[in-house]
Amino acid sequence: MFIDAHCHLTDLRFEGIRDQVIEKARKSQVTHFIQGGVDLAEWDRQVELKRALSSTVTLVFGIHPWTIAHQSDVALRQAFDRLPEYLKEAKALGEIGLDFGPRTSKDSYALQEEYFRRQLRLAKEGKFPVVLHVVRAHDQVMNILNQEGFPAVGGIVHAFSGSYEIAKRYIDLGLHLSLGAAATQEKYQETLRNLSLDSIVVESDAPDMLPRGVIPDFFDSERKPLNAPHAIWYVANAVAKAKNMQPEDVLKVSGKHCSEIFRLKLDGHDG
Ligand SMILES: [Zn+2]
Repeated sequence: MFIDAHCHLTDLRFEGIRDQVIEKARKSQVTHFIQGGVDLAEWDRQVELKRALSSTVTLVFGIHPWTIAHQSDVALRQAFDRLPEYLKEAKALGEIGLDFGPRTSKDSYALQEEYFRRQLRLAKEGKFPVVLHVVRAHDQVMNILNQEGFPAVGGIVHAFSGSYEIAKRYIDLGLHLSLGAAATQEKYQETLRNLSLDSIVVESDAPDMLPRGVIPDFFDSERKPLNAPHAIWYVANAVAKAKNMQPEDVLKVSGKHCSEIFRLKLDGHDG
């Protein structure tokens, strides 16, 4: 019984094939899914999914940096106002952070920062672990984390692909690094060797970020390959190779960390 530390089963690209995606994951013993939150419409789809799948899904709500960069001020304000009501059902707040990569324009940076700070304050108030999305903004994010603070329970830096030095700075703050497709690159083996197992979890980020070596089972309407939660085995294999251990044991440790961070009760009644 393994956990995908971060995925988007509610992504519209999974519409019509979601049951098969979940079935494939179950056959690979990946039976629990921690969602990433993106925007208000997607939070509603998460609530639906939770109704259908109950204890196998952990809800996480937040306003994603891409949402901040692309939605109107009115829509953002509405989402932020309604976030506390959704958080009553959530185990964590995210995805929040800063994305200064090609998916956003410079004009959005100040607003991204403002919403990152406001959401961190909500996380602190409600003692929610945070799910961070950080692209080309590690220094800025760490500055803000230091200024605003965040709950002692910590959280994860999702899809982490930075250097060991950057990893170390997040670890010192009390955060875990969530490894995905980028960790399956051969060139990442040395960083993986240096990273302590104590500080990592394993994610798919499905439907995005297909790990290296995966033969895709699922496709979007334009026949583009989609990632799926069972592929966390490929990430676990990469970590296992670097650490000279079994991938099962990597997933076991990752699951233990997820249970602690997200306070999961995996005895079937909650999650
Ligand atoms: Zn995500």
